[in-house]
Order: sequence, then structure tokens, then C-alpha cells
Amino acid sequence: MQKELIKQLFRKAFTNRFPGKRIPGNTERMEREGINSPVSVPDDYRGRINYEREKCTGCQLCTKVCPSKAVVYHEEENKISYHLLRCTFCGECVEVCPVQALTFTQDFLLARTEKD
Ligand code: SF4
Ligand code: SF4
Repeated sequence: MQKELIKQLFRKAFTNRFPGKRIPGNTERMEREGINSPVSVPDDYRGRINYEREKCTGCQLCTKVCPSKAVVYHEEENKISYHLLRCTFCGECVEVCPVQALTFTQDFLLARTEKD
């Protein structure tokens, strides 16, 4: 065990500083600065939800099942909007949407500078 501990002391760290150095798609910078590759996420990862507005029929099923009231229906447009800050990523809306207008992405970088 001591041998392993000493080995670890001289190894490069496997974690990256977040978020400045952990920019997806910035492989050039990552290589230049010796930053480790991003951790891949599973196909069924529950990341930021993507809303395809043109697919949406305005059925409102998603607003009914959302436990955190993150989905809001806009009657005048017959469309919804989705509030990321309220979402708990439970997946109820994704599951209930009959036209797959709501889908999970693999995006886990959720910090934004715009409030909406
Ligand atoms: S994943 Fe859950 S909490 Fe988030 S919008 Fe859908 S139903 Fe609401
Ligand atoms: S369940 Fe799907 S189609 Fe219905 S309002 Fe929500 S996003 Fe639109």
C-alpha cells in the first residue's frame, strides 16, 4: 500500500478544474495544457432538456406531470417554455411527451449567464 501511495504522489491529477478548463470541444487547448479528456456520460444520461418547439403540439401533458412546475404553457402560442432552474431532471415530461419534443441531452454544463 505504501508503494501505491508514493506512486500516486507523483502522478498527474485526473480531475479538471471546473468550469474554466472543462470546455467541451476545446480539445486543442486541452492538449496544449495537458488537461484530461472529459468524462463520457452514458447514452441515457439526464442532462439539460432539449425542447423542439416545432414538434410540440401544445397538448400540455408535460405541464401536468412536472412535479416542480418547470414547464409552463403559453396559450397564445400553444407552446411551452422550460425553466432549467426549477427542473429536477426526473424525466416525467420526456416520458409523457407523445411527439418526443422533449428529450434529454448529455449536457451537464448548466451554468449560464442569462437568467432565462
Ligand atoms: S424533467 Fe421533471 S422536473 Fe424537469 S421539466 Fe421534466 S418533469 Fe419537470
Ligand atoms: S407533452 Fe410534448 S407536445 Fe405536449 S405540450 Fe409538452 S412538449 Fe408539447
